[in-house]
Amino acid sequence: MSSGCVDVNPEASWRSRLHLDCAQALYVHLPFCVRKCAYCDFASWETSIGDPLARQYVRALEERLAEAADAGLMRCCKTAYVGGGTPTMLGASLLGGLVGKLRGACPGLQELTCEANPDSLSDEVLRDLVDAGATRLSIGVQSLVDEELHALGRLHDARAAAERVASAVRSGLDVSADLMCAIPGQTPASWHHTLTATMNLGVGHVSVYPLQIEDGTELARAVGDEDPSWNAPEVQAARMDQARDVLEAAGFARYEVASYALPGKACAHNQAYWTGLPYLGLGTGASSMLTREGYDRLRSLCTKLPDLPDGIARVRLTMTSSRFEFVHALGFDDLSYDIECLDESQAAAEDLMLGMRMTSGIEAGLLEHSRNVLGRERVDDVLADACKRGLAAWRGGRLAPTHDGWLLGNELYGMLWDLVKEGVQGLSL
Ligand code: SF4
Repeated sequence: MSSGCVDVNPEASWRSRLHLDCAQALYVHLPFCVRKCAYCDFASWETSIGDPLARQYVRALEERLAEAADAGLMRCCKTAYVGGGTPTMLGASLLGGLVGKLRGACPGLQELTCEANPDSLSDEVLRDLVDAGATRLSIGVQSLVDEELHALGRLHDARAAAERVASAVRSGLDVSADLMCAIPGQTPASWHHTLTATMNLGVGHVSVYPLQIEDGTELARAVGDEDPSWNAPEVQAARMDQARDVLEAAGFARYEVASYALPGKACAHNQAYWTGLPYLGLGTGASSMLTREGYDRLRSLCTKLPDLPDGIARVRLTMTSSRFEFVHALGFDDLSYDIECLDESQAAAEDLMLGMRMTSGIEAGLLEHSRNVLGRERVDDVLADACKRGLAAWRGGRLAPTHDGWLLGNELYGMLWDLVKEGVQGLSL
């Protein structure tokens, strides 16, 4: 099988993806926020602006980036994503410097996204991001209604969010807005306002998520044992449908369950995640998905990573070191990892599940590969059952999720995962 570079092209051979020896997408994680939002269970910690720890963390990140580049792990990266946390709270020069280093480490980048929050997205940060080579901004707007933003514990108000998004659009970057539905105080009218006002600011991409009440968050403590009516499953479904209607009427195409884009503005980085392409994640809590060959390349930097047993085709690896450990690590060997090993059948089932997140569904190459790996009859039986239950349908030669398939995603994904006979092997290092 071939190894090396492929285009971020959904029609590329699926089998060859399992042998790419370098990442096609890069994620770096900055785990710092000015204040923790009420609903947040992401890997982020409250940190004051200017905290020396953030500077040390960026330096450590840049060192790991250089090592991974020297090992050839990123020579084919087409997309990069700087996520968090709140990357923009690093300030213009630190963030611009990191983006410049990413550009240097991945010479073939076609898309470089940075996550941003309105309260720290100054004109100076915008200018330095553009100068350093960022192409895209993903801004955490969530709502354009002050009372809703307050209930979520966001730092910005609606006026500031609108003003910062408009400024980002003027900078020439491709701008995406993250919006949240089924939140406290939200009504169909207020959700309509948030959706339309966001589009009117000139963004080319919108991501829409129903709020999940996660254990251990301030919101979960406030809600207690209640099942709040504003977050009921039927409210989540209705708000997602409303978003689809409003966004599609304005020319945005839904290409994934939560993602809408104007023509040419879909996020290539996220599409890499959903189409079985290997990616490298650097930073506290960051996950990688590597082929066996890519993992062996990483092992040249990290001797404590074990040799893989026969039959493993894909490795999911999460950096579990704290931000303090990350800062003090002298190399990949000093970091901690959780590892999950997938054989070819598990990787194929995973790719089928990911395919069902997208409007375009499961492409012919993946379908044929899955039949070969998981058994033609078994795959066809499960897919026929999914169609019979109204969760999927054939469209233009591809099997795609239906409206019910998206609403009942866990049922559909469970059916596909059941094609696998054994559980995933995991270990912690
Ligand atoms: S800004 Fe994002 S990462 Fe930071 S606390 Fe809020 S939701 Fe979490």
